[in-house]
Amino acid sequence: MSTTTAGAFPGARQTAEGMMYNGALFQAVIDKCEGCARVRDFEGTQYCSSYPMPASKWSLGNCNFSTHTRVVQTAQGKVNPLKASKRAAKGKGR
Ligand code: SF4
Repeated sequence: MSTTTAGAFPGARQTAEGMMYNGALFQAVIDKCEGCARVRDFEGTQYCSSYPMPASKWSLGNCNFSTHTRVVQTAQGKVNPLKASKRAAKGKGR
């Protein structure tokens, strides 16, 4: 799941609450982050290189920083996958 990059968090230190890096407390990634290229390993725990609190990032929907979630493209442009799914369920096509 992780991309291990040595030195991804230079100067970071592990604490009981998470990783302290650049004055911010980072919490470990969650299962929804699996496959994202921004996941980095630090002392055996995976953290996001872009956002300190992955769980809250996902709490309102897909993480907008993620590299592994896709937006469906059509000739008309971007389609919200959730709306497309609801439309399909109602039989309205597209
Ligand atoms: S960018 Fe989003 S999906 Fe990717 S690791 Fe960070 S919080 Fe998780």
